[in-house]
Amino acid sequence: MALRNLRYEGDEILRKKSREVPVVDNKIRTLLDDMVETMYANDGVGLAAPQVGILRRVVVIDVGDGNVYKMVNPKIIKTGGKQTDQEGCLSVPEKIGMVSRPMNVRVEYLNENGEKVELNAEGLLARCICHEIDHLDGILFIDRVEEGN
Ligand code: ZN
Repeated sequence: MALRNLRYEGDEILRKKSREVPVVDNKIRTLLDDMVETMYANDGVGLAAPQVGILRRVVVIDVGDGNVYKMVNPKIIKTGGKQTDQEGCLSVPEKIGMVSRPMNVRVEYLNENGEKVELNAEGLLARCICHEIDHLDGILFIDRVEEGN
């Protein structure tokens, strides 16, 4: 495993749309492992591939629920409820802001073995999934910060 260099706000790669992964191969598994290591090294709870300069639909998440989620081609298929809370991002250091997200999401993705997984998430995990998938579409949380909060 290896640490990858983080990209920061102002880097145009963070504003580009990432491509789907056609096959979960060893290269993607290495990317997932490197992203997990990079996330932990920077005290993050999630990381998306564009944040390490790779325009692929790949996300890793660990919100402290005992799981490390490695998601390839994640897609939200259902949402419910609403939560508004503070959000930050490793690519936008020293900024935080209030962002509204769904309270519950159902997401489907491929795991590191290329198997299709469906996951119901709520609270912080749901927020994190939304935040990371936004990265895959070139969206940063600062685009969604609500004025007056
Ligand atoms: Zn982020």
